[in-house]
Amino acid sequence: MARVAPGSLPLDQVEAAAFLQRLTVYIGEPYFFLACRTCRVVVPISRIPAHFSNGHHGYGRADCVRLQTAWEAVYLPKLPHTMKSDGEIRDWRPPTATPAPIPELPVYHANRCLYKDAAGHRCTVLLDSGAAGGTSKAKGMARHCSKQHG
Ligand SMILES: [Zn+2]
Ligand SMILES: [Zn+2]
Repeated sequence: MARVAPGSLPLDQVEAAAFLQRLTVYIGEPYFFLACRTCRVVVPISRIPAHFSNGHHGYGRADCVRLQTAWEAVYLPKLPHTMKSDGEIRDWRPPTATPAPIPELPVYHANRCLYKDAAGHRCTVLLDSGAAGGTSKAKGMARHCSKQHG
């Protein structure tokens, strides 16, 4: 059995954490979340096993849980994090009214629904300009709001 100095992490945990770190990119100030380097989507910490064991990545689910646990032990104490659970994605608000594009993530040009329910959860619907010759953005959003939000 390998000797581990008091207070240090076993090597395999450090390696597991570094492995996950290479699959992801940490997006810091002012956002503080992890994104998948390949898929270019935000991955809340709670979704790491689901994301990296899906068809696209195909790692074993149990391995992904181990990577997540290791990553949390090694990196989470050093990295502020706002996106630990699905709920935190749902309730996420941009830190500024006009957030700058995040270089690691794709930019979508679309209209965002501004509706919030009584609990303050915002609607996540985005509408792009639609098919050529189709409905205008404003009309599309008006239709969405009357249908979804009364
Ligand atoms: Zn991915
Ligand atoms: Zn909406």
